[in-house]
This record gives sequence, structure tokens and C-alpha cells, in this order.
Amino acid sequence: MALDILAIAAHPDDVEQTCGGTLLRMAEMGYQTGVLDLTAGDMGTRGTPEQRIVESEIAAKHLQLAWRGNLHLPDARLENSLAARMTLAVKIREVQPHVVILPYWQARHPDHYRAGELGYEACFLAGLKKLDPYSEPHRPFKIIYSSLYADVKPSFIVDISGQFDRRMTALFSYTSQFGQFGEEGGTLFPDEQEIRERLSAIARFYGNQIGVRYGEPFVVKEAIEIADIVAMPVRSI
Ligand SMILES: [Zn+2]
Repeated sequence: MALDILAIAAHPDDVEQTCGGTLLRMAEMGYQTGVLDLTAGDMGTRGTPEQRIVESEIAAKHLQLAWRGNLHLPDARLENSLAARMTLAVKIREVQPHVVILPYWQARHPDHYRAGELGYEACFLAGLKKLDPYSEPHRPFKIIYSSLYADVKPSFIVDISGQFDRRMTALFSYTSQFGQFGEEGGTLFPDEQEIRERLSAIARFYGNQIGVRYGEPFVVKEAIEIADIVAMPVRSI
């Protein structure tokens, strides 16, 4: 298998909030897209890991993913250990992504920034010939960071106006997480309307920066090359 794009995330339902619109848009352009969730959310207050996996498969269909996997690493205590890096690197060699999307390296939830670190280091290791005798080396060409929940200026924003509604449908496939209020979750879990409004406001905020309705932000560490400055999009303010 050779994926064009692989998004690596800490928990099932992370990509549906941060870069699912972009994944769907790329799939619609004909690219092979995939998601690798590092944990199955076994520390979550609501639902079981088995439920989360089933829900993530339903969400995958809405996002038109060619592949979705789960490494079943420990949730809420994700560690950038040698074993975790090796497991992830071997998986990267298996699915051979050209572009990898990682969570931005600063975040409130330790799993999120660790997933970013772990992903970055595993992408490097995956390119080492002698890492593992049973798989071929593969180093992704490009790493981009999904920065939707980070307080940082994006390097670029993808217009997801045509994909936003379906991204929300994908997110609400996680009925164990985003159902209406239940006894066990208490007030920890905002209801569906609240989530819809919040994510819509965030997507509108980023869309507005490039003059479209909805957008998803990304950060890259390298400069971006522009061949034709006359054809550059986004009107100056
Ligand atoms: Zn998460």
C-alpha cells in the first residue's frame, strides 16, 4: 500500500475535529488518504475502546479514507518510548505515505503533543534501512502540522467549505462521545449543538483568513515555494 496522505492522531475523533475536511477534500481529488489513531481511547469516560473503533470505521467512510488503523497504545499516558517509536515507524513503512499530518507540537493534552513528537521521530526512523529487516525503508517527503487547537499563526489554510458538513457528520459518528447528555458523563461533555456551534465558529475563523466560509489551518517548518506570485490567492488586507 502507498498512501498519498497519512494523518497520525492520538485518539479516534481527533482528525474529525482538526483535519478531516482536508482529508475528505484530498480524497475527492483522487488521493489515497489514511488515518492512524495511536490509542483507542480506553481512558475515556464514555464508551469502550471497541465502540470507539467501530465508530472510527464509520467516520472513515464519511471521510472517504482508503485506510484507517489503530496502534492500541495506552490512552491518556501516551509515551514517546522506543517501543512506541519502533511500532509506529514500521507501520509508516507499511503504508508508505508521501505526506504525513501530525498534531501541532504544543497542546494542552499531553497525548496530543506526544503524538506529534512520536510521529516526527518515527518518520525519521522509518527511513533507516537497518531499522527492521522485514520491511523496506520509507521516509515521508513532507510533514505538516494540524494547528486548529493551537494558538499559532498558520503557514497555510485549506478551504473546506465544501467538506465541512460531512466532516461534522463524520465526527458525530462517535455516538458514544458526542451523544446528548447522559448520567455518566455529567457536564464534562457538551451536547451536539454546542459542539456544532463551536467547531463551526473555529472553521469560520480560519476560513475568514483566506476569504472563504470554512477553513482548516496547518503549520509547516519549511518555507513554502511560490512559482507565480501573480497567481497567488487570498486578497491582501
Ligand atoms: Zn484527542
